Amino acid sequence: MSRARFCRGSNEAAQADPPTAPAAGAYSVRTMAKHTIVLIPGDGIGPEVTAAGRRVLEAAGLSVEWVELPAGAAALEAGHDNVLPQRTVAAIQAHKVALKGPVTTPVGKGFKSVNVQLRQKLNLYAAVRPVRSMPGVKTRYENVDMVIVRENTEGLYSGIENEVVPGVVTSLKVATEVACTRIARYAFRYATRRGRKKITVFHKANIMKMSDGLFIRSAQKIHEEEYPNIEYEELIIDAGVMKLVQDPTRFDVLLMENLYGDLVSDLCAGLVGGLGVTPGANIGDDSAVFEAVHGSAPDIAGKGVANPLAVIMSGVMMLNHIHEEAIAARIRKAYDAVLAEGKPGTLTRDLGGAAGTMQFADAVIEKLK
Ligand code: NAD
Repeated sequence: MSRARFCRGSNEAAQADPPTAPAAGAYSVRTMAKHTIVLIPGDGIGPEVTAAGRRVLEAAGLSVEWVELPAGAAALEAGHDNVLPQRTVAAIQAHKVALKGPVTTPVGKGFKSVNVQLRQKLNLYAAVRPVRSMPGVKTRYENVDMVIVRENTEGLYSGIENEVVPGVVTSLKVATEVACTRIARYAFRYATRRGRKKITVFHKANIMKMSDGLFIRSAQKIHEEEYPNIEYEELIIDAGVMKLVQDPTRFDVLLMENLYGDLVSDLCAGLVGGLGVTPGANIGDDSAVFEAVHGSAPDIAGKGVANPLAVIMSGVMMLNHIHEEAIAARIRKAYDAVLAEGKPGTLTRDLGGAAGTMQFADAVIEKLK
């Protein structure tokens, strides 16, 4: 069923890489599932943590057919000439949703990062990063529960740089009304759907009056005209980050442009325990890619010790996105319970335990019962 849809929806891919002759193991063959989801195992610990994530999602009752496709070094090893094969992009376009493991972008070989390519090719304009205090994960603050919504396509990441004369370069910060309005609308809609109360915009419109000015004016307009139900505030970013580290519990949804969002997302991940407990999503109007924030961790790859929690949490975000909220809530409750118990035999090494990747996944599955 899913293969037929993939073939019809992949004109470009069909020419470059005929879907009638997929690489061995490229597709699973289960049929009649409610959802078809692209699974990109990735590199390093990617295959281990995505396998664990997949196991948890299925054990919780998700009816799914996985379409497994490569990206990163795994794609080159499979004989593709790009770290992001067109077949993988076409499958996400066809099936709309992907769960992705971390990938390794080969350094110094001229390949554009998989994540940048995915963002651009699928127009994934919203980067969404929930940041929540986890039971049993000791950090400076408790009760942190916020979501960062970052504009993913422009700002200083537009890549428009210029050498004016030798020794003088410029980097252009781009803001368009279309993209500013689109991300603001996404943030307000997300907040409304997820029962959130307040959106705070971080900006520097006092200095960048035109670009950040456009960003806040667009957010104000969406708030006033479409979502007056959500409380709205603006903070100049320097004061905003100070308030964040003083008391992150006062924030709910944070909305910002690309560079600020990149920095603030990692700062906030640090507030709740770091990369191992931070999921993420890149979302567009047509498709969405869910993935943990951490990388491929080559230092522990293949050892079966990586923590799959961030991938499982990304899977929970994905379940909410595909309207499987009940399954999402069950899984979240289950991993919260495992963390709260804090048994060394069920937690992975990075959380102070001694369990392996699958042992943690199995402990979560046990709590689903
Ligand atoms: P990393 O996140 O892979 O590793 C940093 C440290 O955290 C390492 O000590 C690692 O062992 C540990 N770690 C990471 N994830 C873990 C997990 N799930 N469980 C336990 N420990 C974990 O960052 P890095 O070393 O800077 O990058 C390694 C590679 O990953 C690079 O090639 C980088 O480009 C790539 N990367 C990919 C993504 C992505 O695909 N989304 C994101 C970041 C980095």
